[in-house]
Amino acid sequence: MLAATRIYQVAVPTPLYRVFDYFASASLVAGTRVRVQFGRREMVGVVVGTLEHSELPRNRLKQVMRILDEAPLIPPTLLMLLQWVADYYHHPLGEVIHTALPVYLRQGRPVAFKGEMAWSLTEAGRGVRQEMSHRAPAQKRLLDALAAAPDGLVAKQLMEISLRWSATLKVMRAKGWVSSHPHDTPRVSPRNILPSPELNPGQKSAVAAIAARLGHFHPFLLHGVTASGKTEVYLNVIEQVLSQGKQVLVLVPEIGLTPQLVERFQRRFQAPIAVLHSGLNNQERLNAWIAAIGGKASIVIGTRSAVFTPLNKPGLIVVDEEHDTSYKQQDGLRYSARDVAVMRASREKIPIVLGSATPSLESLKNARAGTYTLLDLPDRTGGAGMPHVRLCDMRRLKPTDGLSLPLREAIAARLEKREQTILFLNRRGFAPVWMCYDCGWVAPCRRCDAQLTLHRKRQKLLCHHCGAEQEVSLSCPDCHGTNLHPLGEGTERVEGALEKFFPRARIERIDRDTTLRKGTLEEKLRRIHAGQVDILVGTQMLSKGHDFPNVTLVGVLNADQGLYGMDFRASERLFQLILQVSGRAGRADKPGEVLLQTWHPAHSLFAALQRHDFHGFAEFALGERRETGYPPYSHLALLRAESPVPGAALRFLREARGLAVSLSPGEGVQIMESLPAPLERLAGRYRAQLLIQSRDRTPLQAFLRRWVVQLAEAKFSSKARWSLDVDPVDLY
Ligand code: ADP
Ligand code: ZN
Ligand code: ZN
Repeated sequence: MLAATRIYQVAVPTPLYRVFDYFASASLVAGTRVRVQFGRREMVGVVVGTLEHSELPRNRLKQVMRILDEAPLIPPTLLMLLQWVADYYHHPLGEVIHTALPVYLRQGRPVAFKGEMAWSLTEAGRGVRQEMSHRAPAQKRLLDALAAAPDGLVAKQLMEISLRWSATLKVMRAKGWVSSHPHDTPRVSPRNILPSPELNPGQKSAVAAIAARLGHFHPFLLHGVTASGKTEVYLNVIEQVLSQGKQVLVLVPEIGLTPQLVERFQRRFQAPIAVLHSGLNNQERLNAWIAAIGGKASIVIGTRSAVFTPLNKPGLIVVDEEHDTSYKQQDGLRYSARDVAVMRASREKIPIVLGSATPSLESLKNARAGTYTLLDLPDRTGGAGMPHVRLCDMRRLKPTDGLSLPLREAIAARLEKREQTILFLNRRGFAPVWMCYDCGWVAPCRRCDAQLTLHRKRQKLLCHHCGAEQEVSLSCPDCHGTNLHPLGEGTERVEGALEKFFPRARIERIDRDTTLRKGTLEEKLRRIHAGQVDILVGTQMLSKGHDFPNVTLVGVLNADQGLYGMDFRASERLFQLILQVSGRAGRADKPGEVLLQTWHPAHSLFAALQRHDFHGFAEFALGERRETGYPPYSHLALLRAESPVPGAALRFLREARGLAVSLSPGEGVQIMESLPAPLERLAGRYRAQLLIQSRDRTPLQAFLRRWVVQLAEAKFSSKARWSLDVDPVDLY
């Protein structure tokens, strides 16, 4: 009896760094979900391997309770990718798999599409329609109707053609003439498809270079200034991939912010597109997943986690705005979707295009080293020039509510010409500080080492770190005076000031507070496009990919934010951000202007911005990184710890550091000192961190592997909550 059973390694979602052995009498393939008894709980796990012998004695080995999939759920290449992710980010495989699956599949539900199904003609059906005899009128009528409906027909429509449509279609499906598919992928009719514009020489050679590598792994870095036609390059390559019957995965930073991009894809291709974003419910997410794995969706567009979407016939991966930090997950499995995408492309043996107007220094270095092929689009399309960048020296200009006189004059000039203005301020709320002018007290968050932001319309003080809400104190708790005032400006205050300065202008504010309700952002964007808005003020939400042809002025109210930040990437971020928002100005045929309000006009970063000199900036920044030994000239890992008990996180890290040193980490791997996090107390928890830096990746990875396993089992580890962040993007 024993010989007939097999032993399987099953990954279950637990924090333990190992897989678990179970036996089953059926033969199971890796990638299949099973329900197993784990301790006293039942869990959904995934078979990841087969064993001849288990180290567990036979009587302690449990049997798989139930097999949940007839065929393996996770294709082998994807399973291997997830294995790599687990190894690279030092995260338990069971949790990695759990993260990668739609919620319903994690819960053990069947791979079942629910939702309206549509029916379409197959190639065979199209062929047979011509010679259809009149003896099968019901079939003929359905064939004719389906032939006229490229999106397919749903039950309601079929009913109007034949009451017995269901039985008839079943017969026809058995003959291979029709197929059914999910109806939730909107498609446009062929006559509304927008053709590609004639590509310029730069675009043509980029498309040719990528197309030449289809069917092989090859990473490309597509660097093109804003509005240089990068998206058009993606679309043209994608067209070729689709014509080979292959699928395309497109990653974007945030879909809610770029409905135009999705729309552009939908208006270009007849092919069904699955869009994966945070607004989907669990069933919709599963539907999209099924459409992708079944090959029904030719294009999958999604945010970070879409990188794990299984594809039937992958042909190309595109990562738009590859520098965007939202590709990095900041909790749980802290992966970089961009980096995972590159690894995935290499496993799937397909090309990958990383596109940006402001590539990350990591990708740029890879391009310079020849690991990635650099494709440059130096000019804006249609002869539009780069916007003129002007600095407002705020040491001389006294701003009112954050707006300097030159900026106000520039806005007035746009209003006169009926052109639009975007004002950018990376701070929401009315004022970042609520202060007693008598004694200097500022309203603190009770749970964080941070100040509260005044939100005047809501009449509340809010903590932007933990979300805590407090009443606006009208007397000072320290000196009992009543001389309390808001200090500094946020978007809400600027909006109010604009209303005073320009009473007749139509003003919109876009930030997290004004776009809470579903659909409001889309509505605001629509109004801007329709020319119903004169001045737009908002946070970084505005910096991403929007194409507003009538915007000719961009004002950056506090260009210094991040100039002297604690993070070694602060200036890179600032440069990217300003170049991106500047890209919103004067896209089409109207020249644009960018006004930067700064207290440090002599800073070299602004000189590079005025010249639109990304490479100049990159040269400087890379030099700085090389000198200081920061990435991309080294590799980092950050061990973070937190605890509600003061000092516990630091004590844990000191123990962890001791363990690290005792493991002799190896050539070039440096263990820094344990430190309190820059924002030490957050939401009532005390946080600390320990940085590991290494010249090369291999010894770092080897060390982390040994260290993390021991950490997970060490007794002192229960004293604080901890996590390891490989390639951290934020050091706080
Ligand atoms: P990016 O992705 O670099 O911001 P897009 O591909 O969105 O640039 O192009 C910017 C604008 O220029 C879009 O409106 C696009 O339709 C248009 N465009 C792109 N390439 C061409 C071209 N070769 N000829 C004419 N218009 C183009
Ligand atoms: Zn006071
Ligand atoms: Zn707080």
